[in-house]
Amino acid sequence: MSLWYNLVIAKIDLAAIAHNYELLKTKGSKLIPVIKADAYGHGLGPVAVKLAALGATQMAVGTVHEAAALRLTPFEGRIISLLGPQTDDDCSHVLTFGITPVLYRLDQLRMLGEAIGGNDKQVDVVLKFATGMNRLGFDPDETDVVIGELQNMACVGVHGVCSHLASADVPGDASVTEQAGRFERVCAKFREAGHTFQSNLANSAALLAYPELKGDAQRPGIALYGANPFYGTAWEKKGAGLRPAMEVRAPVLSVHALKKGEGISYGLTFRATKDMTVAIVGVGYADNYSRGLSNTGEMVLRGHRVPVLGRVCMQLTAVDVSHVPEAAPGDEVFVLGGDKNSVTPEELAAWWGTIPYEVFCLLGQNKREYVG
Ligand SMILES: *Cc1c(COP(=O)(O)O)cnc(C)c1O
Repeated sequence: MSLWYNLVIAKIDLAAIAHNYELLKTKGSKLIPVIKADAYGHGLGPVAVKLAALGATQMAVGTVHEAAALRLTPFEGRIISLLGPQTDDDCSHVLTFGITPVLYRLDQLRMLGEAIGGNDKQVDVVLKFATGMNRLGFDPDETDVVIGELQNMACVGVHGVCSHLASADVPGDASVTEQAGRFERVCAKFREAGHTFQSNLANSAALLAYPELKGDAQRPGIALYGANPFYGTAWEKKGAGLRPAMEVRAPVLSVHALKKGEGISYGLTFRATKDMTVAIVGVGYADNYSRGLSNTGEMVLRGHRVPVLGRVCMQLTAVDVSHVPEAAPGDEVFVLGGDKNSVTPEELAAWWGTIPYEVFCLLGQNKREYVG
């Protein structure tokens, strides 16, 4: 929480998240908003409360502890823990807080069964299968074994069967239909065994691009926060209309001249080739504004793009304001967003050498304020 002492502020527009949710609702049938990792940096509680007010009855978070934290907010619906229980302690959290865990190992299923023990309290679970991404999930070849195990566990109800797509955001990637085929065969076996459950496969990209893979429910994350998973691809239009919900700003601490030939910041990696004016902004890598943006990033000051000069420091970054003569200490500088010439999440991610997901998760750790 030490970031909260710093000068950087992340403004979260809950109305933009609501707009994105409504847009996604027109593409899906039943949405399970993914609000893991503190709602991708947008704030677990405020985002959950907003989505619940719009009718969301299930949400997916990361750890069991994050699920317990969500249970302490006014959201009363179903809470799915995507990472599931790892320890006995996690299993008791599942029971105490009424969490629906995602399970992907047999020993995990047995551990949960033991935690329920004599008490015949029914726990709903979601079973995850690895259909091609090969990260977490039962092997589809194990489906009969899993179904057999469940026959001895009357206390466990199958709420959902899920899988995760590796390349839904790569237009036309053949792995998507391959994974969908394997997933459908797993679901068919569960149906044949008499289970009624919610199948869910689609993430944001699949929800936007593959209506035939809707299943019973969909798990959008990034699109809720306004980044287009198809940005820069031939399918970019499929994500049209999404609105970024995070804007990040920091104040100007100093404005001064940098004379031709002078360098700036550690290592003097930028040297002025003409007389310039620079502003020193109160943001740096301690605020999760990556040092990788040195000599590369751009910010927005009074509606003008201002390029980063030299190295990003721990709490300070220099920008070129030679073309913004009115720049003054106290001015707000946008490192993400801004009213005019705004920095988009995709642009910032490209300068940073990453994706909007990481930009949101990291910059969202700053002090947040909410509108909408
Ligand atoms: C994070 C996550 C999602 C959401 O993915 P987006 O690309 O953000 O839409 C869906 N399902 C699982 C299992 C996830 O971990």
